[in-house]
Amino acid sequence: MMKRTLCGILSLSILLLGCGAAAAESAASGPRLLYQGHGSLRIVTAEGKVIYIDPYAGEGYDLPADLILVTHGHPDHTAVDLIKNRNDGCRVITWKEALTDGEYKTFDLGYASVEAVQAGNNRNHDIRECVGWVITLAGGITVYASGDTSATDQMAELGERDLHYAFFVCDGKFNMDMDEAIDCAKRVNARHSIPYHMAPGSLFDPERAELFDVPNRLIIPAGEEIMLE
Ligand SMILES: [Zn+2]
Repeated sequence: MMKRTLCGILSLSILLLGCGAAAAESAASGPRLLYQGHGSLRIVTAEGKVIYIDPYAGEGYDLPADLILVTHGHPDHTAVDLIKNRNDGCRVITWKEALTDGEYKTFDLGYASVEAVQAGNNRNHDIRECVGWVITLAGGITVYASGDTSATDQMAELGERDLHYAFFVCDGKFNMDMDEAIDCAKRVNARHSIPYHMAPGSLFDPERAELFDVPNRLIIPAGEEIMLE
């Protein structure tokens, strides 16, 4: 009997040690970003909060959401129903709440600050019904998702902010073409400029991504997750 109890305590301790190690590992792993393909991104913050941007493409909708951001109303950006698991208090913020009467809003969520910025500005995307996002995570790490857009006036101002990661649409079909995307990336001048939404109908096009010729380029293939630092 005694032996069995001791054995039980030992196994429990090992189990607890194991859990402790796993928790420490996830806390130490820092924020990360999964490029799901097309215009879809998933961020897991250092606190373990899960942010989806423009759900639609690819895989990786299994993690319970804390925040879902939608830049505009086109169906390749609004598939929020893909995210079945949502934590208590999960918020969905779309361009409708983020841009009212010409005013771009900022949402402070504690684990992240989410600022709506100008987007659209082309014949397929009305600037009054589209936003991009600048997301600031703990430690000041910033991620800019341009949303479907052509060049905007605000990009020059974004260039003053030393942004960390900036995603630019570059499909040249519904939005700005590659040359304009390169020009925008130079204006915003983030530490890492990343092409996305480059080939509507497919997740990613490696040959087209190569044409995004900017000095601080980072190419993330669809389905790849990077650490944010
Ligand atoms: Zn789109």
